Amino acid sequence: MKETGAPQSEVNPRYRGYQLLYRATRNLRQSAFFTTLTPKTPSCACCERPWAEVEAPFEAVEYRYGKNGGTEYVCLTCYTPRIASEQMLGLERMNVTGNTRTPVYGKLGMLVGSGGIITPAAELHLTLPPKLFEKYRQGQWGQEGRLSTEKPLARLLALLAQGELDPVSEGFVYIENWGRKVDGLMRHLTPTTSLRELWCNSESGVSVLDLHAMVLTAQQLKTQGLAAQADRIMFWKPILDAAEGKRDDKAFGQWLEKVPDPAALLHALPTDPHERLKLPAVLGTVMPHLDALLPYCEPPAPLQIPMVEAPPVSRDPQQGSLF
Ligand SMILES: [Zn+2]
Repeated sequence: MKETGAPQSEVNPRYRGYQLLYRATRNLRQSAFFTTLTPKTPSCACCERPWAEVEAPFEAVEYRYGKNGGTEYVCLTCYTPRIASEQMLGLERMNVTGNTRTPVYGKLGMLVGSGGIITPAAELHLTLPPKLFEKYRQGQWGQEGRLSTEKPLARLLALLAQGELDPVSEGFVYIENWGRKVDGLMRHLTPTTSLRELWCNSESGVSVLDLHAMVLTAQQLKTQGLAAQADRIMFWKPILDAAEGKRDDKAFGQWLEKVPDPAALLHALPTDPHERLKLPAVLGTVMPHLDALLPYCEPPAPLQIPMVEAPPVSRDPQQGSLF
C-alpha cells in the first residue's frame, strides 16, 4: 500500500521512536495485506497519541484482542509488530487442523527473546536466538544481513562502536525484547538520545541504563589493571550485595584492598542500585568495544574527596554513594 505520513520536521521529538520504527518497517507493510479506516476514536488505543500526530495521520487498523475482546483502533505504527510477514521474516510454523495445513508467518511482535536496534537513519537490526535466526534467515531481512545471533546489548554496542548510531543525539531505538505483548512494547516506545539514558524497550515496558557510567567504569577497570575482572560476579560481589541492601563490611574491606584506586572506581559506577546489579553482565559486553566507545563519553567529573594512594581498610564504608 502507498504511504504518505507526516513530514519529519513536524514530528514531536518524543515520538522519534515511533517514527523510526515506522520508517524502518515500510517494506513490511508494503508486502502485507490489511485495510485501514478513518477512526472515530480520539487517539490510538495502544500508544494513545492523537490521530493527527501519528506517523500515518487518521489511518487506523481495527484490532480485536482474542475472540471476546472489543474492537480497538490502533495506528499503523502500533499495528506493524502485529503483521505476519512471509516476505520480510518467513515461515514461523505450519498450523495443522485435521487435514488442513496453514502457514503461520513471523511477526516482529512474536520474536520472543529477540532484540532490535533502529539506527538514526531508520535501519533495522534484529538479534534472534539461533532457532529463530535459522527460521528467518531466508527472509528479506535475513538476506539483507539485518539478523544476528548476538545478544541485543552486544549488537547495540557493536553498532555504536562502528559509528552506525551517529549522531546519537538524533535518536535511536533499542529494543531489549520484542516478546509477544505488543501493547507493552508500543505503549511507551522511547528513543535514546544520550548514552547517560539508554532506554531499554521491551514487552514489559521501558527501563533506563546509564551506559555512559558503565563505559567509564570499564575504563577505570582497564586503567587499574582489572579488565579481566569486568564480568566476574565474584569480583563485584560486595558491590552487588550492597546494591541489594546486604552490607558486608568485611568483604567490602577486602575488596578495597584488591582495587588500586577504589575511590576512582566507586566514583565511576552508575548510581542506581538496580543498574549496579547489571555491572558484570554489561561490563563484560562493554569491555571488547571499550576503545571505540570512549570517544562517545565525557571524562569523569573531578573527585570531591582528596586522592589517597592506598585508602586504609578501616575507612568508614558509609561514606560515598555506595550504600
Ligand atoms: Zn499507536
